[in-house]
Amino acid sequence: MDRRHFLGAGIAGVSALTFTSVFSQAAPSLGTPAWPEPGFRRLKVGSIEVIAINDGITRRPLGEEFVRNAPLEQVKALLAAQNLPTDHVDIPYTPHLVVIGNTRLLIDTGFADNGPPNTGKLRANMLAAGHRPEDIDHVVLSHFHGDHINGLVAKDGSLVFPKAKVHVPAAEYAFWMDDAKMAAVPALKGAFDNARRVMSKIPADRLVKFEAGAELAPGLSAMAAPGHTPGMSVFTVRSQGQSFMYVADVTNVPSLFARSPDWAVAFDMDAEIARQTRRHIFDMLVKEKMPMGGFHFPAPAMGTLEVAGNGYQFQALA
Ligand SMILES: [Zn+2]
Repeated sequence: MDRRHFLGAGIAGVSALTFTSVFSQAAPSLGTPAWPEPGFRRLKVGSIEVIAINDGITRRPLGEEFVRNAPLEQVKALLAAQNLPTDHVDIPYTPHLVVIGNTRLLIDTGFADNGPPNTGKLRANMLAAGHRPEDIDHVVLSHFHGDHINGLVAKDGSLVFPKAKVHVPAAEYAFWMDDAKMAAVPALKGAFDNARRVMSKIPADRLVKFEAGAELAPGLSAMAAPGHTPGMSVFTVRSQGQSFMYVADVTNVPSLFARSPDWAVAFDMDAEIARQTRRHIFDMLVKEKMPMGGFHFPAPAMGTLEVAGNGYQFQALA
């Protein structure tokens, strides 16, 4: 398949897979996935604490559309080889809280009360981990897809993290606010509208745009990771010789897209750039043996990656 055609198909795929349409397909017979208790996992990185906090999990029937560039039979075979179900995929949503001294920075938000069934659990799980949404100092966004930003604003219009500054990748903000870009891809209008709706609720004096490579707090820095969206950022925590990376959506579920990193999930906006970013970042994590966390990774969302065949195997923290 030629690259231009592939990318074009990808953009159309994104529009067909809005979160609403994805979840309205859910068949009750598939059951409801559960995240094991507790709904959070702490990791010490030097003097910094990182806590993966789950917002919920959704289960979607596995169809031809989910992996754009592999036949469904191959996708099912890879799941079966890992003793995973082949009729559905469970997709968790797990923001990460970084605690540096007395400063609390939450990376990505989940859905709050705006999401599909079985989501919106971040608040309860954050309280269980000992932190209140009211005490979050900074929210840091990796990219502007709904599952990462909709939790900023509750259904009633109130700010979920009322005192937080909101830090966004400058390139991501520029893309979604660009009228010409929006007009160029009518299929993405819903995603543009959503990003603009959420951003319009953030008071101007609380919105901070950061550049790739910026240090957001002592020990927390951003790195460009384009492809899934044009301006996506990942985040590295470094303290006292230890390090950790939050990889956001460099892959969707690792059972498919870490094991077979050249496959593209329907939500990757530029599949080829996303593929290059994925291999680059995962090679770095393997080489440095750096612990990582991922928004769509299975419980507890934190672990390590090692090389497996042509891809990578995720080993979850115990
Ligand atoms: Zn996502």
